[in-house]
Amino acid sequence: MMKRILVMAAAAMSLCACVEKNPLLKEWDTPFGIPPFEEIRTEDYVPAIKKAIEAHDAEIAAIVSSKEEPTFENTILAYDKSGELLERVYAVFGNVESMAFNDEVAEASNVITPMMSAHSNDIQLNEALFERIKSVYDRKDALGLDDAQLRLVDNVYKSFARNGAALPADKKAELKEVNSAISNLQLKFSQNLIKETAAWTLEIKDKADLAGLGEDFIADAAARAEAAGQSGRWIVGLDNPSVMPFLQSSANRELRIKVLDAYLNRCNNNNAEDNKDICAEIIRLKLRKAQLLGYETYVDYQLEDRMAKNSENVYKLLAQVWKPSLAAARNELKDIKAMAAKDGITTVQAADWRYYSSLAKAEKYNMDEEALKPYFRYENVREGIFYVANKLFGLSFERLENVPLPHPEAEAFECKDVDGSSLGVIFMDMFARPGEKSNGAWCGGYRDQKYDKDGNKINPIVTICGNFSRPVGDKPSLLTPDETETFFHEFGHALASFMIDVKYPGISYFDHDFVELPSQLNEHWAFAPEVLNVYAKHYETGAVIPMELVDKYLESKNYGKGFAMTELLAAMYLDMGLYSMSEIPDNYNVLSAESKILKDIDLLAEIPPRYRTPYFLHIFSHGYDVGYYSYLWAQVLDNDAFKAFEETGDIFNQELARKYRYEVLKRGDETDAMELYKNFRGHEPTVDALLEYNGLK
Ligand SMILES: [Zn+2]
Repeated sequence: MMKRILVMAAAAMSLCACVEKNPLLKEWDTPFGIPPFEEIRTEDYVPAIKKAIEAHDAEIAAIVSSKEEPTFENTILAYDKSGELLERVYAVFGNVESMAFNDEVAEASNVITPMMSAHSNDIQLNEALFERIKSVYDRKDALGLDDAQLRLVDNVYKSFARNGAALPADKKAELKEVNSAISNLQLKFSQNLIKETAAWTLEIKDKADLAGLGEDFIADAAARAEAAGQSGRWIVGLDNPSVMPFLQSSANRELRIKVLDAYLNRCNNNNAEDNKDICAEIIRLKLRKAQLLGYETYVDYQLEDRMAKNSENVYKLLAQVWKPSLAAARNELKDIKAMAAKDGITTVQAADWRYYSSLAKAEKYNMDEEALKPYFRYENVREGIFYVANKLFGLSFERLENVPLPHPEAEAFECKDVDGSSLGVIFMDMFARPGEKSNGAWCGGYRDQKYDKDGNKINPIVTICGNFSRPVGDKPSLLTPDETETFFHEFGHALASFMIDVKYPGISYFDHDFVELPSQLNEHWAFAPEVLNVYAKHYETGAVIPMELVDKYLESKNYGKGFAMTELLAAMYLDMGLYSMSEIPDNYNVLSAESKILKDIDLLAEIPPRYRTPYFLHIFSHGYDVGYYSYLWAQVLDNDAFKAFEETGDIFNQELARKYRYEVLKRGDETDAMELYKNFRGHEPTVDALLEYNGLK
């Protein structure tokens, strides 16, 4: 997942001459301009963000009150550079929300979220500002602008138009209310989910109920119980590092059913944390928003400026992959049924899938993934990740001591280019902190790359977060192959942040459908034999992972792809379906809508979608609404792009890596993403490599 820093643009911050006490507002004379994390207290955020909003308002007012004719410099550029202080402060808070969440942070969010949303509304609906922007936009071809400047003018103009700047006053007012209602509901949605995920646990008292579970899992479950004051017992949680291995390995069917049921029904328990009505209201409000802006559905509105362009293209892509995936899942189901029958199970349920699939896989390939984990010590995987970045792009990473850290558990590294010059800083904060940290893994940041007013490049400060199992006692953190890929994935996002190099904040990002390309592409190197040789060393003996184990793993890796693709695509169809209505009935029930969408695609009853509506965080809070498909879109791109490396006969082909860096990553949103891709690949991507690599051909 990729979380973007608030893209709002940037200017010289107006620092007051008085002695500033709030550490967020002070000038940060820390190494690399890293936020002074140790000094910041939760109560600093609200006043700092208030002040930063005022500073941004003043910058906007200065643009609007100019008596000069609107120009690229005094309007577009000035707008693009405004809000730097706010961006800086809000980035710190945004990261705290997802990795150091607690009740005080929740309280601050409740104040800050509506404030931010109102502020962004005020700007987006500022008529005088829009008039000036439109004036430049209407004359853009006569102003002698270069391509990047023209692109910036387009982006700025469209961001206003798409947010209602051209609407009459009454509709503008309504849109403002709709936006702020959506933003409040999104916040409530994600807070409910964090609470519900932490609230439910399975407490195991009887050792017999641990049957099938791996040693590490049991140690982690014991540590969780210990922390909860239940020493001598074992606790299973609903966070992914706990729930997924449990479902895969627990031999106790009753408990599997219980745990999966709790997992699938998060925020669907008719209590204070229930999200069903919140989802329905969010969907209704987004439709209203789309219609106010002149679109028939929210899907139409969302896709208009994406690489995919329209829903037809999205559904076409989904269908090309759905059929072979479902067929593969049906095949897997045969194995699962045969396996379950040995235990006397005649009707296979969802809670049986992962367990029997893993047994069937083990029987077929005689492959125990637990046997791989000792070779994937966290620190070793990190070395492998650095190795790949070095082989491809010549980058190196140096550990930074004595710099402020966003969390005591985080580590900091400086990224250096081939010539030794700095490309920025990355924090890694990769271990689970249930209740405090959001689920999953993501890449975020404290600062995007940019240029100061003298044309000097300012490097990014990136952060990647994960939920890996932490070291227990003297046992290091050992990653599963999946987690290893996740680590490569998030780091791929970070690489993109280090390599993007454009002049204006308003074009300094990647197209929504493109964002997952650099991350997913980076995963392809994780299990290449040459790379494994470097990093996959047994944490006790130091022996390199035996290649026959790797071969077996790679052979077995695609087993279960039918299920994995099916649950993923089902969630994509769910996202598209929920937002594609042009009318929403009064007693709208999101779960009935969900059932219908899943029935229409013939999803197997034994496979729940990867996310169900009440906890589909991506599409109700994290900006992937009508965007979850982009993971598949990007899979088409990443597989096709890796194929390009393979076709040269050298997965470390540096010439191609250079092309990828300079033709694609460096350029951000300077031009249409498909054009950038074609410059690198020579042609548009096809689904062939995706189906081939996943064994779905
Ligand atoms: Zn990602």
